[in-house]
Amino acid sequence: MADEVEKKHEVIMIGAGPASLTAAIYTTREDIETLLFERGAVGGLAAVTDWVDNYPGFPEGITGLDLADALHKQAERFGAIIELGEVSKITDEGEYKHLETTSGDMYAKAILIATGSDYKKIGVPGEMEYYARGVHYCATCDGAFYRDKRLVVVGGGNSAVQETMFLTRFASHIDLLVRGDKFRASEILQRELKEKHSDKVTVHFNTTTDEIVAENNKVVKVVGTDKTTGKKVDFPTDGVFVFVGLMPNTQFLKDSPIELDAIGLIKTDQDLQTTMKGVFAAGDVRSGATMQIASAVGEGSTAALRIREYLEGRHSPAMK
Ligand SMILES: Cc1cc2nc3c(=O)[nH]c(=O)nc-3n(C[C@H](O)[C@H](O)[C@H](O)COP(=O)(O)OP(=O)(O)OC[C@H]3O[C@@H](n4cnc5c(N)ncnc54)[C@H](O)[C@@H]3O)c2cc1C
Repeated sequence: MADEVEKKHEVIMIGAGPASLTAAIYTTREDIETLLFERGAVGGLAAVTDWVDNYPGFPEGITGLDLADALHKQAERFGAIIELGEVSKITDEGEYKHLETTSGDMYAKAILIATGSDYKKIGVPGEMEYYARGVHYCATCDGAFYRDKRLVVVGGGNSAVQETMFLTRFASHIDLLVRGDKFRASEILQRELKEKHSDKVTVHFNTTTDEIVAENNKVVKVVGTDKTTGKKVDFPTDGVFVFVGLMPNTQFLKDSPIELDAIGLIKTDQDLQTTMKGVFAAGDVRSGATMQIASAVGEGSTAALRIREYLEGRHSPAMK
């Protein structure tokens, strides 16, 4: 970590998850001076992922913490400096962009925003206790751990229905708990769920999720309430997937000219440049992201190469 943080930098990266750490490996290895700001844990969401089974190069899988640690060490080996702190505003001041941070005013010629996205939580007992150890938010990441097992899925929107259908590849049976009396998902998805997956999926409308219960450190059931009768209902399960929305970490861009899409993810062009020249975005915070570590790492390396071109004056204008 930096003892005293310089104010002017070649590149500042916001967030120190897989996307930024990878980008920093590329920039610092090419002697482009780089400072990263991280408001939470270095390694981002990867650092809190129990077990990563789908990151290439690790045939037996790897813990998220070990993967995050390796990326962190590799970035620091080439000279990346990580400052623990938060960025709260970016403004374009021409050659240098101005950043308001918890360490004061900072300036950078180029910025990479890789602040990721958080999954919305349902806030019930058991959810955080068994986070990533029975309670999940990403079917692509963790669905395959539930081959021939029972699952509960919580949610009623497009992503809940879509991900439930995906999870039928693995699970023997899924109870889908929907708080309202109907889905918010599109008609097409609802029809597909009914026509192709009713053998494995039981939909429970008007059902709240009240508690996730574990025995011997293993999730065994969800307790819900049937709102039409007011009665408690037990749903025996081996795991729970929650799909109630995404919260992109872009609140700090609220008053900036950097354009966001309808759910608040950052729009970029094919060079990963945002609508502010010299400001790039990569990973889970980017509109179109696939919310996977391998993709975040790929986008981080692409962004670093585009940033180098930008600093050398060989880059296209900002996205229109
Ligand atoms: C439980 C769980 C399991 C997962 N399992 C897998 C898996 O098995 N395989 C897989 O490929 N993917 C998995 N993922 C997804 C994967 O973790 C993400 O796709 C990946 O971490 C995204 O990397 P990122 O660098 O874009 O963002 P993140 O990892 O989210 O990092 C962003 C960082 O930015 C910081 N930040 C945010 N705002 C600010 C700010 N204003 N100032 C300073 N810092 C800021 C955050 O604290 C965070 O550390 C999982 C995710 C979760 C939650």
